[in-house]
Amino acid sequence: MSQKKQFFREASVGEIRRKKFVDFKELGELAVIASFEPDEYTVLPDYVPRGYENYKKFMKHGPEVRLPRFFSLEQAVKQGNTPVQLREQAFNSADGFNFCGYSILPIGVEEKEKARESELRIDERKRKIALNDCLEGARIFAYSYQSGTGIKVRPYKDSKRVRIDGAEVLCDVPSRSMRGKGTEGMRKKFKLLSVPFVDSREKYAIAFNIGSDHSCPAKRFNIRYCYTDDKESSGVVNICAHEIAAYLQLIQQEFGDNKNIIPLQMCQFAIPAQETVDYYLKIGNNLLIRDKSMKGDVKLKKPNKAHKEIALWAFVEALKHDKTFYSRQSRDGNVSDYNWQS
Ligand SMILES: [Zn+2]
Repeated sequence: MSQKKQFFREASVGEIRRKKFVDFKELGELAVIASFEPDEYTVLPDYVPRGYENYKKFMKHGPEVRLPRFFSLEQAVKQGNTPVQLREQAFNSADGFNFCGYSILPIGVEEKEKARESELRIDERKRKIALNDCLEGARIFAYSYQSGTGIKVRPYKDSKRVRIDGAEVLCDVPSRSMRGKGTEGMRKKFKLLSVPFVDSREKYAIAFNIGSDHSCPAKRFNIRYCYTDDKESSGVVNICAHEIAAYLQLIQQEFGDNKNIIPLQMCQFAIPAQETVDYYLKIGNNLLIRDKSMKGDVKLKKPNKAHKEIALWAFVEALKHDKTFYSRQSRDGNVSDYNWQS
């Protein structure tokens, strides 16, 4: 795997172990890690629920927070809730925190989802979004501003179909890794599809069909090694950090420059508060996981994607939706200016 750029780097096991140890037994809950000083760390036993072969299986098959499903456009329009209102309801009523993400479903396919998931047409598949990727998307977005590398988004919105099918948006997003020292790495180019762009009744349906033609190199890697946990498998589309970063840039461009609020109003991605970013960085830099199956004396490892995801849901449970995943200009400033230094 190629090296991460400085902006995306986390402390190593060795670096974390040189910090001051705090006994977690006295803390009680994961969310307390938010109160750690930068030079403190703790160790937890592996807390990914049992019954999954590995953490990737948990991320694929673990319980998810389901946003409300709608049977018809009429029903969604009548209710008139924006995605962030639906997230608020779903996040605040979620029971516990052992989740692998949240999911949305295109309008009118719930019955089909139950009946024959594998036969769904491409745009009828469930969309799954991990809070991890919401954080990493916000990080790439902030990086693009703070490094000056930029994210380019070019919406195609002129056709008549944009009211009914949404816009297509060409995206060009910087990579988190370097290829060789000092290089910019490979930028990701793809097209976002079914992007809510103009104010219409159909925006409620368009937002649930959000998709793209993007595939990550990580996905090709997985296929080569015969994993089935690839990005688009059996009836589910996993949204990745690159897609979320591009969408944040679209919001910035449309709302900031063109006074068009629709991409923000109908955004399906949870946008973290600065406080959630601070906590996420502490999960990466001030926490180690005890793994008795490891060789050697240390038996400590960094939290993986599942550990981070569960930790983020624990933060939601403790502080609720608005303090964790509802970015407020007055409290947090611009997402592009967020502090990502731990
Ligand atoms: Zn990606």
